[in-house]
Amino acid sequence: MRDRICIVCGQELDGQPLMTLDRMPASAQDIPGMEDLAEDKGISLNLHQCSCCGLVQFDCEPVPYYKDVIRSGGFSTTMVELRKRQYRHFIDFCHLEGKKLIEAGCGQGEFLSVLSQFPVTSCGIEHRESLVLLGKEKGLNVWKQFAGKGEILTSPDGSTSGPYDGFLSFNYLEHQPDPVGMLRCIADNLTDDGVGLITVPSLEYILEYDGYYELIRDHIAYYTFDTLRFAADQAGFEVLEEEMVNRDTLSVIVRKKKTVKENGGRKNPEKLDVSGLLKSRVIIDEELKRLVDELESEGKNLGIWGASHQGFTLASTTVIGDFARYIIDSAPFKQGRFAPASHLPIVAPDHFLTDPVDAILIVAPGYTEEIAKSIVEKFGRNVEILALKSNHLERI
Ligand SMILES: [Zn+2]
Repeated sequence: MRDRICIVCGQELDGQPLMTLDRMPASAQDIPGMEDLAEDKGISLNLHQCSCCGLVQFDCEPVPYYKDVIRSGGFSTTMVELRKRQYRHFIDFCHLEGKKLIEAGCGQGEFLSVLSQFPVTSCGIEHRESLVLLGKEKGLNVWKQFAGKGEILTSPDGSTSGPYDGFLSFNYLEHQPDPVGMLRCIADNLTDDGVGLITVPSLEYILEYDGYYELIRDHIAYYTFDTLRFAADQAGFEVLEEEMVNRDTLSVIVRKKKTVKENGGRKNPEKLDVSGLLKSRVIIDEELKRLVDELESEGKNLGIWGASHQGFTLASTTVIGDFARYIIDSAPFKQGRFAPASHLPIVAPDHFLTDPVDAILIVAPGYTEEIAKSIVEKFGRNVEILALKSNHLERI
């Protein structure tokens, strides 16, 4: 067990958690195989809010692979356009033309390759070897390194080294058990007036629009502009600009402060209202119970589409985990394995042809329409298609 202290300010996480989630998947990426099933079980996650700095976080250990940037989401046009817009603005706003930028946690270089169209020198560090190799295959300047305490960010052959004029970090900080340590390391590898562009998922968005099934152990912390600004400040950065992008993501531009002064924790942050999340658990639970009752009374069975963390969580925390026959997913590396905690088998779409179900519940936020269309094309119109949108079940 990790000491129950805040990952940003070090204050003890005392008092009651905001909520406790039982039977949650232990991880979103390590999908158990047959041989792991005896060991794999759901875990309880306590969501706390630090009474000192206000950061909302789980009090557990991080997932073992928190240094790796596994971007499973498709590389959509919307995302590319968003990055282009952000790069253009960042370079313009911070006068970075001709300057040297480093991406901390670059995965296989999905976003670095977009940056290569801009008039800057770019490189990236990534902890997972296989992703580094994929990035190199694309011709990107990436190497294996993690921005941990005391690290000097230099390529192994010495051809690229600091100080850098700017850094990028896309949806990575929320995985970090020592976010301030990581940002400090980056700051130490920047020029005196070095800048950065950081994005993290927005906690407010999750509270307002998403169900509890968006919470996942991989994301150990849930930031607001307020708590992100505080974490950046603790690492020696000031926030120059804050923007909400894609409706659900916080984006900030930071700059190294001239003098780093330790200013202790803040006091009395506003207590967060998680009633929406708690309500989503009850509503989703009831809706899925009703669905199962209905299908059962008609002698029908159910499949789930989407071996995503949302699908795993719904399967392990509601009745559909026991009722559904399987989870369909088109990613080959997930097929033949099992959903964590619920142990529903994950099968390829073609499995339906030999073992059909009467209804399919799509749990793949952002891809619902696309999947519904392919279900009709592949399996015909007799399959009942359902999807969870926010906290309601809809028939498609
Ligand atoms: Zn704190």
